[in-house]
Amino acid sequence: MKLPDDGEQALRSAVIATALAMNARGINRGKSGNVSARLSGTDGDGFLVTPTGLAYEDTAPEDIVPVTLEGAARGSRLPSSEWRFHRDIYRARPDVRAVVHTHAPFATTLACHARGIPAFHYMVAVAGGRDIRCAPYATFGTQVLAHHGMIAVGASLTAALALAVEVETLAEIYWRALSIGVPATLPDAEMDVVVEKFRTYGQARRGEE
Ligand SMILES: [Zn+2]
Repeated sequence: MKLPDDGEQALRSAVIATALAMNARGINRGKSGNVSARLSGTDGDGFLVTPTGLAYEDTAPEDIVPVTLEGAARGSRLPSSEWRFHRDIYRARPDVRAVVHTHAPFATTLACHARGIPAFHYMVAVAGGRDIRCAPYATFGTQVLAHHGMIAVGASLTAALALAVEVETLAEIYWRALSIGVPATLPDAEMDVVVEKFRTYGQARRGEE
């Protein structure tokens, strides 16, 4: 069996660190979320994903599961039961290199009402559009996401985790704002300006790294 190279080993550790950080930062509880990172190498493209049924505290680098874009897993563990939406995102979005999925309490509260987050605050644009949409529900283990939780994607694990924290913060503020009435939303033209600002800001930061 081919042993993982140093790059893959480091990525396995980073996936675990991100999963632990997700819980430490209060955007996930217990084993309910999952984290993945894109792999690209001589064996073809795929991703590393957290295993099913294992607490993050008890997860070692060798427990992280490599999965191909065709859905073939290797290693001693089974991938998260929600591996399919990770696979679908990597197939559809070549720019995405990491996916963080959580059952963040406020985002999930809104998702249980099949509510997205409208442009009630300019920071909504940080997620890349005029609003943050709620996808239709699908059975656990197939696709996602109303009555379920949140998915944040990014060019790195750090970026995806930061976005997940940001979206949960927005979900909490929106939930609080709704408690005293329905907040007005910003005009589309204004949101388009902010979306563009965030897009170019992100590029500048990547250039610095
Ligand atoms: Zn889930």
